Amino acid sequence: MAVNSSVYDLPPLPAYTLTPRPPLLAPIPDNVVALILPIVAYWALSMVYHYIDVNDYFPQYRLHTPAEVLKRNHVTRWEVVRDVILQQVIQTIAGLAMSYFDPDEYIGKEEYDIAVWARRIRFVQRALPRLLALVGVDAMSLGKNLSHSGYAMLGGALAGGRYPGLTQSVVLENGVESIVPAFAGWELSVASFIYWYFIPTLQFVWGVGVVDTWQYFLHRAMHLNRWLYVTFHSRHHRLYVPYAFGALYNHPVEGFLLDTAGTGIAFLTAGMTNRQSMWFFTFSTIKTVDDHCGYAFPWDPLQHITSNNAAYHDIHHQSWGIKTNFSQPFFIFWDRLLNTQWKGDVKLRYERSRETAQRKLDDDAVQAAIKAEAPEAPATVCVGEPTDSNARSRLRKKTATLDGLKGAKHGVASSVL
Ligand SMILES: [Zn+2]
Ligand SMILES: [Zn+2]
Repeated sequence: MAVNSSVYDLPPLPAYTLTPRPPLLAPIPDNVVALILPIVAYWALSMVYHYIDVNDYFPQYRLHTPAEVLKRNHVTRWEVVRDVILQQVIQTIAGLAMSYFDPDEYIGKEEYDIAVWARRIRFVQRALPRLLALVGVDAMSLGKNLSHSGYAMLGGALAGGRYPGLTQSVVLENGVESIVPAFAGWELSVASFIYWYFIPTLQFVWGVGVVDTWQYFLHRAMHLNRWLYVTFHSRHHRLYVPYAFGALYNHPVEGFLLDTAGTGIAFLTAGMTNRQSMWFFTFSTIKTVDDHCGYAFPWDPLQHITSNNAAYHDIHHQSWGIKTNFSQPFFIFWDRLLNTQWKGDVKLRYERSRETAQRKLDDDAVQAAIKAEAPEAPATVCVGEPTDSNARSRLRKKTATLDGLKGAKHGVASSVL
C-alpha cells in the first residue's frame, strides 16, 4: 500500500481511489430521487390523513369539526390539489436546474477522511500535557504510571498522544517498506463516529436552523407588509381549517420563496450529500404536512419531537391568532425570542368557531328543506321560524342526517392547544 507519509511522527493517511457513487435506485440519479421522494411522501401521508378526516375517525383528536371544514374554508379541495401540484412542478424544475450544477459524488475516500479526523484527535491529545501542567499535573509521569498499571491507552493519551507500542509496516511512496506510527483503536472509533454520525447530525441541525430562520422571517414579512400579504400569502390563509394536503397550498411565488429556496439554501450551506438531502427534504415535507393535518394526536411522534406541531400552527390559521405563531416547520425559538408566540387559553375561541360553523350548517339545511318544501317561495323566508308545527317537524327530519356531524365529541383537550 503506497501511503502519504509526509508527517513521519504521525500515523500516515491511507491512499484512496475515487469511484462514482452508484445510484440508490438505478438508473434514477440520487439527486432526482431526492426530488421525487418528498412528493411521494407528501401525498402518501396526506392521503392517510384525508382518509381519517373524511371517515371522521378519531373525532376526539380533531382540532376542528367536519362542519368547520365545510363552512370555514374559502377554497375547495380541488383548487388546493391544483395549486399544490403546480408548486411541486415548480419545485421539481428548480431542483433539476440546481442539480445540473451539482458536482458528481464519489465514494472511496471514507477511510482517508476518518484518518484525517483521527489525526485531529491526535493533535488535541498533544495539547493535554500543557493543559494539565496548568493545574500542576505532570502528564508525562502520570501517563507512564498509568501505562505500567495496564491502562496503556489512557496513559498514552494523557502523555500527549504517545503510543510507542503502536506501529504498522507500510510501503512508502519511494517503494521502501518502513515501520511507522499507527492510530489507537479508540482514536479510529471516535474518528469514525465523528465522520459517520456527529458531522451528519450537525449538518441536519444546521439545515433545520436555516429552514426555521428563513421561513420565520419571510413568513412574518408576508404578514407585516400588506402588499406581500394580499398578493401572495393570503392564499394560504384561505384555509382557516387546515388539512394535510393543504400544507403546500400557496401562491406559486410564495411556495418557491419559502419552501423551495429555504430548503435549497439549507441543503447547500450544510454541505449535504444527495443521500442526506433525500432524508432532509422528505422529513421537512412530512413535518409540514403533519403541521397542517388538523389533528392533535397524542401518539404521533412528529407532534412531539419538536416544539412545533399541528395545534401550534393551527392557531396561526385562525383570524384571532394570525399575527402570532409564525414559526415553521420544526422549532418555535424565533416566536419565543421575538415575542410572537400566542399566549393564553384557546379553548373558548375554538368552541365558538365550532358552534358558529355548526349553526351555519344547520341554517343551510333549513334553507334547503324550505326550498324543497316550497320551491316557488321567495328567497327571503325567515330561517329557523317555520310557519306551522308540521313544517317544524319536517325540518327536524331533514336536518337529522346532519346530526352525525355534531354528535361526535370533537372537543380538543386544552393541554394540546
Ligand atoms: Zn401566515
Ligand atoms: Zn399553514
